Amino acid sequence: MIRRVASSDALQVRFWGIRGSTCASGPQFVEFGSHTPCIEVRCGERLFILDAGTGLSAFGSELGPAAPEKIDILLSHLHLDHISGLPFFKPALLAKERVIRTYCGHLEGESAMEPLSRLFSPPLFPVRLGQLPARFEHHGFRAGEPLILDDGTRIETHLLNHPGGATGFRISHRGRSICYVSDVEHSDPWPDPSLADFVRDTDLMIFDGMFSDAEYSYCRGWGHSTWQKGVELAQSAGVKALAIFHLYPGHDDAFLKAAEAEMQAVMPTAFMARERQALAFEPVEEEMVADRAKAAKVPATL
Ligand SMILES: [Zn+2]
Ligand SMILES: [Zn+2]
Repeated sequence: MIRRVASSDALQVRFWGIRGSTCASGPQFVEFGSHTPCIEVRCGERLFILDAGTGLSAFGSELGPAAPEKIDILLSHLHLDHISGLPFFKPALLAKERVIRTYCGHLEGESAMEPLSRLFSPPLFPVRLGQLPARFEHHGFRAGEPLILDDGTRIETHLLNHPGGATGFRISHRGRSICYVSDVEHSDPWPDPSLADFVRDTDLMIFDGMFSDAEYSYCRGWGHSTWQKGVELAQSAGVKALAIFHLYPGHDDAFLKAAEAEMQAVMPTAFMARERQALAFEPVEEEMVADRAKAAKVPATL
């Protein structure tokens, strides 16, 4: 069940940036928003940030001094639209004792330290990441392997088909889960069986549906998919709700609303992600998870 007012132990999602490639701006982009990828995820009190696009600067302003002392940012990959909010993230400027940890999985185990340091240095940017008051830690892992954080939190990951690779994340909490699958280009045949297994039965899949099938012939090979392919994957894998994400900056509110109506005729729980839209998934009781697992003949997990 998706609720607007969440209990303190819900799995919560809020979109801070939903555009792909670059920002959109103007009166025709008001409903869906303008910032590039950034999503706030809360597992109860525990905060995760998915990607550090320009939406991160808006989220940082909202967090302000109340931001946690340790902040974990899971990076899908390092293309500019996914990292350009990082130097403008207010909590990095406010407290010396704050630690900001990045996790990067598409560089064969290397962290994002070297590429980020290259980008955030003169003459490209006046301040180095290491000169900010907060301390940055950069962790590398291999996409496809589980990511285990220092407090024991386990996050499943998947290598996505994108130029240079990208990492998909599956975050679970109290019997609920969300999957972040951006940036990705669909394969032929589709759905890809291993990706379908990765997102199977999740409560929410956030999917790179930057284009429509009608547009795809001229953007083949760019590393992005279509909202129709997102629906196909969702329906084949028992995904309960689908958020189309990484929206093309040329698609205005009218276009997206029409596409959303078309999509909902096929999958009523699918929608185009909107900036600042918040969703909450209440915990599922252990017995219910066990019953579900029994029905699906898979081991029960929480
Ligand atoms: Zn992107
Ligand atoms: Zn990309």
